[in-house]
Order: sequence, then C-alpha cells, then structure tokens
Amino acid sequence: MPLLPRRFERLRAVLDRRMGDLTVLLEQVDKPHNLSAILRSCDAVGVLEAHAVCLAGRMPTFNTTAQGSQKWVPLHVHPDSATALAGLRARGFRIYGTHLASEARDYRQCDFTGPTAFVLGAEKWGLSEETAALVDQPIFIPMHGMVQSLNVSVATATLLFEALRQREVAGLLPQAGEGVPAGRYQTLLFEWAYPQVAAWCRRQDRPYPPLDGEGAIAEELPRQLRLRC
Ligand code: SAM
Repeated sequence: MPLLPRRFERLRAVLDRRMGDLTVLLEQVDKPHNLSAILRSCDAVGVLEAHAVCLAGRMPTFNTTAQGSQKWVPLHVHPDSATALAGLRARGFRIYGTHLASEARDYRQCDFTGPTAFVLGAEKWGLSEETAALVDQPIFIPMHGMVQSLNVSVATATLLFEALRQREVAGLLPQAGEGVPAGRYQTLLFEWAYPQVAAWCRRQDRPYPPLDGEGAIAEELPRQLRLRC
C-alpha cells in the first residue's frame, strides 16, 4: 500500500528542517526516562542525530517518554568519550562541555550558530574529568535555587532550544534539507517512509528503490514485501 501523501509531506517537512550540525553527546546518561526525554527534545528542535557513550556492557533503552522519537533521531553509540569527541571534532564541531569549571561560560554568552556539540554527563557524577579536559568550552546554565543542578534532560533541552533560537534569529535554520549532509537526504527519506523495505534492501545489500514525487516506491518489489509496506 502506498504511503499516504499527507504522511509523506510531513516526513519531508520534518527532514527539510533537520540540522546535521547540531548534536549532543551523552556520557553515561543511561536512565531510560532521561535518554527518552533527550531524544524527544532533539526531535523537537531538529537535531539530525545524537551520540552516546554507555556504561560498560549497557545499551541505550527508551521508555514511553520518547514517544517514538528514537525512530527519528538515531543515537550513535561510541566505545568511549575520547573516540566520540575525536570523531565530532574531525567533522568540525565545536564541543561544549556542561560542567562547572573556573573557565566555564554562561551558555547565553556563547555562539551556537556554527557546528555545535553539547556534552552532557551522568545524573550522579556529571562529566568525567577526562572528557571535561577534552572539550573546547565548558558552559553552565545559571541556577538560582537551592538545588545545584538540573535534570540532564532539562539541561539538554535548555541548550538545544537556545541554539535553535540563535539560529532562527540569524536566519540560519534550514528550510529545504540543506542541513542534511549531501547525499543523505533521499536515503533518510526512504528509511523514514519505508523502514521495513529499507531493512530488507540492506540485508540484500541492494540500493533503495527510487520514490516518485508522491512518495510511492517506483519499482516492483516482491509481493510479500509490498504487503508489509
Ligand atoms: N552531581 C553532578 C555534577 O556534579 O555534575 C550533577 C549532574 S547533573 C544532575 C547531570 C548533567 O546535567 C550534568 O552532567 C550536565 O550535563 C547537566 N546539567 C545539569 N545542570 C546543569 C547546569 N546548571 N548547567 C549545565 N549543565 C547542567
């Protein structure tokens, strides 16, 4: 069955506004409700993909707080923070670590209009010392209450929405897919529209079939697969 045109339009509208140059790296943030809330905020802001380093032997898990956002914001798991940071730096990201250090800056004084990665730490112990030493700029969100820190998902949302605000003011928000790295737009659109067919193609090691202007697959597929679309 073809995708409903309205659904296809919605997928395209969301992908058109995704930003590949805004991301988060979560260091041992492993509580499902926190991870879920963070991915939901990433989706709301338009983050294309997120990154995580998990506690040894753990994999990220989500709960209903995510509202399915893990389907729309892939979370890349890295073996350790140094590797993750090196990868982000090689891709041109400026890395902002969230922790209190003497040289930490109020997040409202920073410019997040360029490629930006926020590094967030675990609920109990925050960022590790090794990671804190590797970031380009430590930042903090000023606190005026009795409690010293925010919940990590709240801190993430605060920072992401500030980045979104700054980019909006600067007229830098993508409108037509220009925030998605070259060559990935059609691939992602296909995966969002037809996840089962995409998985089948990957298993078969064959390219995704083309889509017509209304989002229908413009190629004959095996009957069994067509029934699952
Ligand atoms: N005891 C931990 C510490 O000393 O860092 C508290 C960790 S806090 C509950 C969890 C994470 O949320 C932090 O590692 C940081 O990433 C983020 N966070 C919380 N409050 C923040 C704030 N005011 N400014 C920046 N980041 C904050």
